[in-house]
Amino acid sequence: MKQVLLVRYAEIHLKGLNRPYFERMLVDRMRDALQSIHARIEREQGRVFVYDIPEDRIAEASEKICGVFGVHSVSPALCVEKNWEAISKAAISLVASDADKPQSFKCFAKRSDKRFPMSSEQICRELGHTLLETYPTLSVDVHHPQLKVTVEVRQQSAFVFTKEQRGVGGMPVGTNGKAMLLISGGIDSPVAGYMIAKRGVELAAVHFYSYPYTSERARDKVIELTKIVSKYAGEIELYLVSFTEIQLAIYDQCPSSETTVLMRRLMMKIAERIANQCGAKALITGEAIGQVASQTMDSLACTDDAVSLPVFRPLIGFDKEEIVERAQMIGTFETSIQPYEDCCTVFVPQHPVTRPKVEQLRASEALVDFEPMIQQAIANAECMKISQFVLD
Ligand code: ATP
Ligand code: MG
Repeated sequence: MKQVLLVRYAEIHLKGLNRPYFERMLVDRMRDALQSIHARIEREQGRVFVYDIPEDRIAEASEKICGVFGVHSVSPALCVEKNWEAISKAAISLVASDADKPQSFKCFAKRSDKRFPMSSEQICRELGHTLLETYPTLSVDVHHPQLKVTVEVRQQSAFVFTKEQRGVGGMPVGTNGKAMLLISGGIDSPVAGYMIAKRGVELAAVHFYSYPYTSERARDKVIELTKIVSKYAGEIELYLVSFTEIQLAIYDQCPSSETTVLMRRLMMKIAERIANQCGAKALITGEAIGQVASQTMDSLACTDDAVSLPVFRPLIGFDKEEIVERAQMIGTFETSIQPYEDCCTVFVPQHPVTRPKVEQLRASEALVDFEPMIQQAIANAECMKISQFVLD
């Protein structure tokens, strides 16, 4: 009797001929997540199995795998020989070791190896009898069983399990191209990155800082946030771009009510160029309609006007409270609320426009020759590869 993890995957079954590719990517991502645990991962007919996990690390491995995008659910299972005695023995031991001391149960069976002499129905019936005989205080409850005892008879072996842990869902990172996340030190942008990565998109990220108006600690905070996102999204190339010169030019030479939206336009332009260099096909921001002056419908339209790549805003319809909940769930919230200033907060205008016009902003932007500053900022950008696959 070996302990294994039986992994079901989320939407991959929808992928037709691409399915083997999606499955391979999922296995790769699971391997990344299990880096610190020696284990063998195998694909078999619509499932992935993890074998040879040290016994004291099964719960930990299961937890890590549940965090891999593309995983629907995980069941710690007993892998046994395909004979009735072994199967029923496994089921008996699972019931005995169940810490919840269940009073009722129901059996489920799936037989993909049709050579196995018992039908699914027979397996359920026999197993029901055996468990009732072994544990006289147990009863069968077909509607609301406290314990679901499941048997899967597959080509190589049979698997018996009683628990199912929900995975995060989504698709394996790397199966849907690459996008560039504009990451600030705030609450929203890390959540936005997480949500796009969950759809299988590899992330690159860019952060704009303004020394000496923003501190070294603000930058460290962004590196830390990127690290947390990379637990889910895999390695992230993070570009750190100095924005001071551009920001001061906007501040000095453009209408003060427009500074925030102009800053946003220039950030987008630089992000787009770096995206083009590194093969990212879209930009991602943490904006939501109406959250602040620079996120009104008109402001968002003015921001979009600055670039031609698609801009993904996965939080667009979210309330702040919903975003905070997600930030807490993915573990970025505590870092995000550390009080280090962001370059946008340093230069906030007193009376920002809430209904900027695209033509007006283009005209204001043309007051300054930003091109050499943009080029310089990109040339001096610092790139670091951030990765922390291991979910602690
Ligand atoms: P966040 O919590 O992500 O900072 P926010 O509600 O504070 O969001 P803004 O500061 O208006 O909103 O920023 C809107 C979006 O612009 C951010 O979600 C982020 O994608 C991008 N952004 C803002 N500041 C920066 C920065 N310094 N570097 C990179 N991107 C930024
Ligand atoms: Mg912010």
